[in-house]
Amino acid sequence: MSQLVIGLTGGIGSGKTAVSDLFAKKGIDIIDADVVARQVVEPGSEALLKIADKFGEQSILSDGSLNRPFIRQLVFADKSNKQWIDDLLHPLIRAVMNQQIKQAQSPYCILAVPLLVENGMNKMVDRVLVVDVDEHTQLQRASARDGQSKEQVQKIINAQASRKERLHLADDTIDNSATLDELIPQVERLHKQYLSLIKKQ
Ligand code: ATP
Repeated sequence: MSQLVIGLTGGIGSGKTAVSDLFAKKGIDIIDADVVARQVVEPGSEALLKIADKFGEQSILSDGSLNRPFIRQLVFADKSNKQWIDDLLHPLIRAVMNQQIKQAQSPYCILAVPLLVENGMNKMVDRVLVVDVDEHTQLQRASARDGQSKEQVQKIINAQASRKERLHLADDTIDNSATLDELIPQVERLHKQYLSLIKKQ
């Protein structure tokens, strides 16, 4: 088990994946909340069956996977649906992530959670690392990557925690306003810092 758990977060398009890829290159185990969130509703899973019980067979596509557009629509239409899904999935996601933390082999591990602040998951980690960029950069990069309009990206930004809220919870920050290359020395510095924190424990 890793001796230190770092929660990596940041808004849409901030560069979390770019940063976690650099830590992974250093041999650090990355636990990705998005991957776990998909695992807990994989075809045949208990959670998927519960969703189909609640919202009907339309919840499952013919290949056995979750009908995401259908669920998204239900969640947007009614807050209580979102609450029900969150109450079902969040404990499962946390349990799988905790299991993966226990299995992690690197000296410290990274828990990459886009909505760490929003979902209070900062309590699951020893330190919070925020990838920070301004909104303008988020809009540019996320819309270029996903082919979404800036208006769509702006809506997602508005629904997420604010930059200020995220930075308020940060123990460490990475500034991703410049080039990808400029992430490298920042990751290097933090890697050394995390290793030295472990030695002091
Ligand atoms: P999301 O939460 O939306 O999945 P993310 O925080 O993981 O996003 P990335 O996917 O790492 O963000 O980055 C968003 C886009 O911006 C990607 O296309 C990535 O290649 C690009 N990008 C990231 N950092 C930089 C940078 N410093 N300079 C230029 N492009 C960048």
